[in-house]
Amino acid sequence: MVLDAEFGYELLVCRWAELAWRPAGDPTPVIVGRQVGTRKRRWDTVVVEVDPDGLRQRRTFGDREIDRELLEIVREAPADWEWYRDALPEPEYPWRYVREAIHRAADRGLIDERASGSAGGGRIEIRRKRPYPDWVRRVVAIENKPDLDASAAAALADQLAYDVDAGLLDETWLATEATGSRLEPALRREIPIEAGIVLTDFETGVDPDSGTVAWLPSDLRAAGGESGDGSGSGPTDPDRETRRLVLAERVYGRGWRSFHDTMRPDCRHFRLAHAGEAMRPDCAAKGRCPTARECSGSCASFSPEPPAWRTQGWPIEGGPGKGITRLLERRRDRARYRTLRR
Ligand code: SF4
Repeated sequence: MVLDAEFGYELLVCRWAELAWRPAGDPTPVIVGRQVGTRKRRWDTVVVEVDPDGLRQRRTFGDREIDRELLEIVREAPADWEWYRDALPEPEYPWRYVREAIHRAADRGLIDERASGSAGGGRIEIRRKRPYPDWVRRVVAIENKPDLDASAAAALADQLAYDVDAGLLDETWLATEATGSRLEPALRREIPIEAGIVLTDFETGVDPDSGTVAWLPSDLRAAGGESGDGSGSGPTDPDRETRRLVLAERVYGRGWRSFHDTMRPDCRHFRLAHAGEAMRPDCAAKGRCPTARECSGSCASFSPEPPAWRTQGWPIEGGPGKGITRLLERRRDRARYRTLRR
């Protein structure tokens, strides 16, 4: 339940990060994602600091996320044609899964694939189209707790302690609503000293000055040590680098505006409301931002937009709901382009 109560706040924090990163530092090009993570941990907000030239090259692979299986092939594909088993590292699973991933990567135009040798029994050869760029500089997570109380601080402390130990992130932050522009010392003591703290004030909406740094974070990768996550691997371990990249790819592909995928913009009560420089969902029936969980087909007030709305000036393929979806997707794409211009 806490997660749902935080939903609207989370969107505002994502927008603030997009506008104002890096807090208490130089402006830094970023892309921002929401609710992305690994098998063990999911973060509210993930900020990926990028190298603009690298991101420009990354865009040549398309706007969709490259998942872990594809990533290994795209990164390892050779410059010249080569049998895939010679070109790629030995997998931890059967080669047939690698072949399936190769077909998928080729279908998306990420690599070239051909069958060489006798008909029917030919070997699959691959080559890269272009090198996969080094586009990720730093990966930072923000946990959002608008109403931080003692029990929330204790729960959060465990999560942040995991982040500190795992060494997957460069920094971890807590975002919480400003209460007299300071955090109670008792709550402060619960938060690991390595985590940064930003106090937000979204009373009049989001702008770049909506966040105030109360505590600067430590560099977790430097602090992670040789076996911070218990794996026995150090901060430059290749598998850890891959996991960081997988996380960054998820942020790249999804952004933070994809809430339209799980909510009901096709409900006649659904609309987008401005909150300063941010937009967030608003429900006319409830008179507030609905939570991600309640805004679903099972909502008691759900009412599909009437078919007639789809013919009154709206494109034939959709009414206002589809228009909202397209608007959010355009904004996600614009955010990527803005990052390239910085
Ligand atoms: S009435 Fe329910 S389904 Fe419709 S916008 Fe509001 S919360 Fe979402």
